[in-house]
Amino acid sequence: MRLGMRLRVLMSAIALLMVAIQAVAASDVRSVRLWRAPDNTRLVFDLSGPVQHNLFTLSAPDRIVIDVNGATLQTALDQLPLQNTPISGLRSAQRSADELRVVIDLTSAVTPKSFTLEPNQQYGHRLVVDLYDHDPDKSPAGLPATTTASTPAAPVTPTLPAITLPPITSSKRDIVIAIDAGHGGEDPGALGPKGAREKDVVLQIAKELQRQINADKGFRAELVRTGDYFIPLRKRTEIARQKGADLFVSIHADAAPRSSAFGASVFALSDRGATSETARWLADSENRSDLIGGAGNVSLGDKDQMLAGVLLDLSMTASLSSSLNVGQKVLTNMGRITPLHKQRVEQAGFMVLKSPDIPSILVETGFISNPSEAAKLQTASHQKAIARSVHSGVRQFFQENPPPGTYVAWLRDQGKIAAGPREHVVRSGESLALLAQRYQVSLAALRSANSLKSDVIKVGQTLQIPATQLAAQP
Ligand SMILES: [Zn+2]
Repeated sequence: MRLGMRLRVLMSAIALLMVAIQAVAASDVRSVRLWRAPDNTRLVFDLSGPVQHNLFTLSAPDRIVIDVNGATLQTALDQLPLQNTPISGLRSAQRSADELRVVIDLTSAVTPKSFTLEPNQQYGHRLVVDLYDHDPDKSPAGLPATTTASTPAAPVTPTLPAITLPPITSSKRDIVIAIDAGHGGEDPGALGPKGAREKDVVLQIAKELQRQINADKGFRAELVRTGDYFIPLRKRTEIARQKGADLFVSIHADAAPRSSAFGASVFALSDRGATSETARWLADSENRSDLIGGAGNVSLGDKDQMLAGVLLDLSMTASLSSSLNVGQKVLTNMGRITPLHKQRVEQAGFMVLKSPDIPSILVETGFISNPSEAAKLQTASHQKAIARSVHSGVRQFFQENPPPGTYVAWLRDQGKIAAGPREHVVRSGESLALLAQRYQVSLAALRSANSLKSDVIKVGQTLQIPATQLAAQP
């Protein structure tokens, strides 16, 4: 063979090989998952590799068509829990060796959004299709719509916005606690042994806490997440604000590389300013699209970073001194029913970015990565105990600091809230100074309430805790 001929043969051999490689490299759709949220439905296609896709809607009847290039379907589409969703069915057709068409039949029109996600620790490549029951760009009910300039304006007569603010002088409203069960849907949170998932445990605790708070006259609890679906972090505080929350409590369970790590902790935001690390994270997060849920700033691969995301978001709304105060009360109460990971409210190194309006805390109920703690966290009795301790801390805080116009403020003004004396049984590792800090009383007050000559205390000793002094605002 002449050289040119040989070259051509070689070239076609290479071309054939590349076709073969491409065929091998085509991705499989290995499974499809569905999550229903109050206002949207999320479909997640689990893929063996990256794909290109194209989505369009058709009407009469309403349906959505997704063409996935470089994919074949290796799973059934008829096993999905479609009840309560606008989806009546899913169909598929292999249009060519590597083009898959999926048709979503709908009972009502939806607004679709779709995107692909890179692999993380839990999942591989994914194609996510969100179907919003109504236009997601519309303002949520109760908030003024962003006005866009349309026609040249005639002199504008200011009209009162349709928002009704809670009347200031009104009779005795409830104190509203927004309870935010972390994670959900596509984002399972921390994973424990035997399939324990943070998103499930924290939702159970959140619901129990809601039950307890709602049984408390003068309080009302609102769940930010009511089921197994994902809510972006920023949306969570937005929901809390829409519900008129006086306090935002985010419930989580920890994970650590060391399975022996254990104990509960409470976080509030740091006021110590941005470290360089913070600055880096901030810059990073601005540009990062969400890795798990497709929104917000969450990276499951880095627990600290995820926590940072939550806290950063809280920072938008946190009233720091109140957060620390209520956080300490919650921690103290939790310390009576479960070991504490840290004795004090921890603060992540983030600056409060905006003028605060809702005090916010993040409760890590324990380490789901610890086998015995994971087992405990899944029992109804321990969940109740945790909820009770969070509830007690929250109640104490609001009895001491009731927002004006609330039933609890009225009770206090009537002298009907008696701050009963408290007792504390000393545990290993505790010092008098630590207890003074935890109960927010002065060391001197603690000494005198217990007639102590020195600061030496013994494990098992019962201490009288004097009434909390009103903390001087920093
Ligand atoms: Zn979490």
